[in-house]
Amino acid sequence: MQTIPGEYLEIDRKARVYMPYQDLTLRSATERVCDFGDVVIPLDSDRAMLEASRCIHCPDPAPCMLACPCHNDIPSAMWLIEQGRYVEAAQLYRQTSSLPEICSRVCPHEQLCQGSCVLNKTHEPVLCGPLETFVTCYERKMEGVAIPVGPPSGRKVAIVGAGPAGLGCAESLIQKGHAVTFFDSKPAPGGLLVYGIPNFKLAKEVFFCRWGDYEKAGAKFVGNTYIGNDKTIDDLFKEGFEAVFIGVGVGIDAKMEVPGEDLPGVYEATDFLMRGNTDLNLLPEDQRERPSIGKRVAVIGGGDTASDCLRTALRIGAEQVICLYRRTEKEMPGGKKDRQMAKEEGAQYRFLTQPVKFIAGEDGQLAAIECIEMKLGEPDAKGRRKPVPIEGSNFSVAADTAIKALGYWPDPVIGESTPGLETHDWGLISVVDKETGATSRAGVFAGGDVVTGPDLVVTAMVSGRKAAIAMDEYLRGK
Ligand SMILES: Cc1cc2nc3c(=O)[nH]c(=O)nc-3n(C[C@H](O)[C@H](O)[C@H](O)COP(=O)(O)OP(=O)(O)OC[C@H]3O[C@@H](n4cnc5c(N)ncnc54)[C@H](O)[C@@H]3O)c2cc1C
Repeated sequence: MQTIPGEYLEIDRKARVYMPYQDLTLRSATERVCDFGDVVIPLDSDRAMLEASRCIHCPDPAPCMLACPCHNDIPSAMWLIEQGRYVEAAQLYRQTSSLPEICSRVCPHEQLCQGSCVLNKTHEPVLCGPLETFVTCYERKMEGVAIPVGPPSGRKVAIVGAGPAGLGCAESLIQKGHAVTFFDSKPAPGGLLVYGIPNFKLAKEVFFCRWGDYEKAGAKFVGNTYIGNDKTIDDLFKEGFEAVFIGVGVGIDAKMEVPGEDLPGVYEATDFLMRGNTDLNLLPEDQRERPSIGKRVAVIGGGDTASDCLRTALRIGAEQVICLYRRTEKEMPGGKKDRQMAKEEGAQYRFLTQPVKFIAGEDGQLAAIECIEMKLGEPDAKGRRKPVPIEGSNFSVAADTAIKALGYWPDPVIGESTPGLETHDWGLISVVDKETGATSRAGVFAGGDVVTGPDLVVTAMVSGRKAAIAMDEYLRGK
């Protein structure tokens, strides 16, 4: 529900429609490809006010609010921003989102809030994402940010996985007075915010500033602890935790099952992005080395991860970067915006191409990829036309580095090591109630990618927040 609708009932909607759009300014491709800095030039105060004034304040519930998985009160935030009430706007976002400074940067806005803005019909949508970035930055600089801590309940909760799902859950639990401890297999918190999403989309400082708020609010972090291997969920209960939230994501890269897949020079996307983008001190001890890439890099896959790999490879010194995808551009699952940026930065694309073999050179390193041409056949169950190999069309692509960006699976270890916790055949945790994240095991809740499969930061965070409401009820009912 919009919180301040009464104030803007009498606005002149028509005049607002014709106000100039504050086009999002990007750094030039030639400049940005030389570093890992932000691609977007942030809005300043004047432009933020003007852009927010373009919101025509659709009747409640506004389409942008409905399309936002957190249901942020965007129209009210726009109203506050146009009056220069930036801190209030930021605080409004914080009522419905645990990570507004992060979602504002990484959400696919064109598919969510901005995509549903009614101005799209005739004009450009209001830049909801960059405005959220602007006010949350302003708030942190001018006022600081603190997570309000509820009166101590005396209850201890374990959060397994410190990615967006765990962070969403923890923030809400802290506000209800529960003591929260994160357990994570990585040395540092953040999940894919730190160990996946490249710096040019999300600078690590943005996450670590927000993480500082969790620490100040009393959250504890135990890193390098793989639940299922180093200790089990049952061990956590024995240690005195009264409820557990599982937000371990889907960290296992899909395999291609073709010859030569393990040759030196063939990387999995997770490993490549993590070592290509993350401060070496934050990496597990045995992985503190940058990926060594050659001049010609091929990325296999068509999703957002493929775009991230192409753009990271260009930034760490590749001269030729090509994406190999087995369908056409039309069927690519990744967002257009990221693909467009990759193209501007120099990435090439070869469609209807399926790698069938990785070939080593005399030195034993990858030298080429044998591929086969594909054509599109009948639609599959999801309506996407299936790629079909064209017999005898094999050819080779010279490459000294290949990166496989083919999708992710969950690690089944938690399901296997937790009696009574039901999982689907391929390892995702079954929740008995999507709204609460309750699993088949009493006191164990789950959310994020490990329940839905690979999705978004915002959806994972929201699932954690919802689970926290149910966990609070569970703890108080005990
Ligand atoms: C390369 C890449 C780019 C992406 N870009 C975007 C984007 O731009 N925008 C967007 O919205 N989404 C993006 N996503 C998707 C988004 O990052 C995920 O949907 C989101 O991070 C899922 O959150 P999560 O908390 O469920 O899992 P994760 O972020 O994966 O966090 C899970 C955490 O659990 C830990 N863990 C795993 N197993 C165990 C265990 N057994 N014991 C203890 N800890 C464990 C992991 O170390 C990790 O810290 C991207 C994903 C990838 C891979």
